[in-house]
Amino acid sequence: MFTESVIYLDHAATSGKKAPGVSTAVAAYLDGLAANVNRSTYAVSSQAAMRVLECRELLASRFRFASPSHVVFTPGQTAGLNMVIKGLLRPGDRVVVSSMEHNAVMRPLNQLQRLAGIKIDRVPCAPDGTLDPRAILPYLHEDTRLAVFTHASNVCGTMLPVQEIGELLYARGIPFVLDAAQTAGHVPIDFGALHLSALAVPGHKGLLGPSGLGALLLDPDFSERLEPLLCGGTGSASDSEEQPSYMPDRFESGTLNLPGIFGLHAALSFLTDAQILSLDESERRLAERMLDGLVQNKRVRVVGLPTGAGRVGVISIDCLTMDNAEAAYRLETEFGICTRCGLHCAPSAHKTLGTFPQGTVRFSIGYGTTEADIDAALAALDAVTAG
Ligand code: PLP
Repeated sequence: MFTESVIYLDHAATSGKKAPGVSTAVAAYLDGLAANVNRSTYAVSSQAAMRVLECRELLASRFRFASPSHVVFTPGQTAGLNMVIKGLLRPGDRVVVSSMEHNAVMRPLNQLQRLAGIKIDRVPCAPDGTLDPRAILPYLHEDTRLAVFTHASNVCGTMLPVQEIGELLYARGIPFVLDAAQTAGHVPIDFGALHLSALAVPGHKGLLGPSGLGALLLDPDFSERLEPLLCGGTGSASDSEEQPSYMPDRFESGTLNLPGIFGLHAALSFLTDAQILSLDESERRLAERMLDGLVQNKRVRVVGLPTGAGRVGVISIDCLTMDNAEAAYRLETEFGICTRCGLHCAPSAHKTLGTFPQGTVRFSIGYGTTEADIDAALAALDAVTAG
């Protein structure tokens, strides 16, 4: 897909370049004997099952999570978040979120508000997307059953103070679900240190694997309180018509996305802890470079934090002298620069940032982004906004 003439700055949507070995691993599964797992006992099926097990172990290890059997494969980030939200909340329950959440969180919650009368407490963030952790305290109630927070905004890259939030929630016994769509693979995440009950990660963004696959890491006690959204065949306990209670089968009905898991296994083998640290550092450096350049352009406003601190490499601008959609269109058609324009499935975040309804042009940095890409994007934006 990548061509020489394209500069891909839309890694927040999906990593444009996958980790080395991903396509080979997917092809090796599909071109070999693409056997199912957990259904049969012959050797190729057991070998595939071993790869699935190793992938769970790699995910557990990357996120400092002690229980690989509680790593559940999901059809993606949105599905994983729905599984937790709808698996736990019951009529009349309260849930607390920030004002920076993605629709993968807000739409299932609004659906439950409509269908089951749940109450949503939305903690307002500042106009740069930051949150004082103590601001959540007035929004925690006796009947708050769940807290869902994004780790970093998919609109402006601002990170929430999840360590402090985790401690406040833990002290009050409120389960904490972290939406790590924009941070998994970009920055180190420690499940235990954050006092998480559930961590949702997509396979196709910072983890550099194929799309259509994600993972939910579930604290063992918390997993027992969740009802599975999907029930069906697991290849186990086939004498019963009841869903198995043990993990991960309880939440993995139907055949898994095996080509995806083979690809994600390769991606995670590449993404060692050291590699994540080095990507974190280089993406921060590139974000600084982009932000330094954007400050020079008086025809755009940077939305969110103005420097590289407290953020990931997701950078949004609002064009002051022209329509954002036109700017994004010209960046692509005249300079081959791929960005994302609009509201990024996060209307509440844009209301917080003061960019609703016009939205922003979003440049997002990731694996494969170079200094030359940033310089080219800055020069192109200068040219486009100049006239
Ligand atoms: N949460 C956040 C913060 C996101 O940025 C995204 C996607 O961009 C999602 C959830 C949903 O991810 P997916 O589309 O991979 O299901």
